[in-house]
Amino acid sequence: MSDRQPQDPVIALEGLTVAFPRYGGEPVRVLKGIDLALAPGEVVGVVGESGSGKTMLARAIMRLVPRPGRIEAGRISFDGRDMGQLDGEALRRLRGRDIAMIIANPRSELDPLETVGQQIGNVLRHHLTLDKPAIRARSLELLRQVSIPDPERRINAYPHELSGGMAQRVVMAIALACQPRFIISDDATSGLDVTVQAQVLELMRKLVVERGTSLLFITRDIGITAHFCDRVAVLFAGEIVEIGPRHAFFADPKHPYAILLLAAYAQNERLRRYWLGDTTAGAAEGPATTGCPFARRCVRAQDRCRTEHPRLEEMAPGHFARCHFPVER
Ligand code: SF4
Repeated sequence: MSDRQPQDPVIALEGLTVAFPRYGGEPVRVLKGIDLALAPGEVVGVVGESGSGKTMLARAIMRLVPRPGRIEAGRISFDGRDMGQLDGEALRRLRGRDIAMIIANPRSELDPLETVGQQIGNVLRHHLTLDKPAIRARSLELLRQVSIPDPERRINAYPHELSGGMAQRVVMAIALACQPRFIISDDATSGLDVTVQAQVLELMRKLVVERGTSLLFITRDIGITAHFCDRVAVLFAGEIVEIGPRHAFFADPKHPYAILLLAAYAQNERLRRYWLGDTTAGAAEGPATTGCPFARRCVRAQDRCRTEHPRLEEMAPGHFARCHFPVER
């Protein structure tokens, strides 16, 4: 019998570091020492601008770092098991059955030559032992769960016959097929119109509440995290620079970069474009190589910031920030 407790993390990252080799130089580390654990039924939002490492984080957890990148250090545990010790077949079983990922471009996930029913059925056949009638019944049930209208007809549709919002729901149905215990949503709601986005978010929430699924919700839309996530983590230059419970984070953000993101989102179009990755809006400078990676862009930077790399420190219970001079209210 397992001695694991109900609140043991479903997924835990310890010191996760991903590096890409660079000819004649030090490898480029795109994720640096990420520590993060999700409890069952917890939703953690990850926000950060383009290039901060959000998608790499998703790929690293799935152990799908594109070559020649590699996980240079750290450990990823699922249900207490070190994923680094699993062979290819065990990893494939885990992905799709226990861990699923939903990405922003659903059409790239769907095979244009297979119907919706065939694609859901493939997953069910691969991971669960179900006969043909059971696969069809389960597929229809999944399509209903993700609010696909007229599922008996859509089950025979090809991806090109679906709208973007419907294709995203089919991808969700495939992701949910085996009732995974952990889902990564990598910007999955961007590009959807507001109504469909709200429906997709509602579906995810339902899954979390009803099945205790844990969700890593990666997004550039900090506004969504304000009412959707239990905790919010801010990623900058491959590091978590702030993480805390949602209320604490929004009521009392500590890191100057987090404050910039919030200000940008809330009120200023120029800052908002900057936050969304439009470098013509003044964000062109890269991170500093020593000291605090945010020093070149930080209005609070002092000499110490340029020479000493800040550590992630607890500012309030469960609320951590990586800053020598955190913002005090
Ligand atoms: S450590 Fe210094 S440069 Fe970095 S965010 Fe804090 S105040 Fe700004």
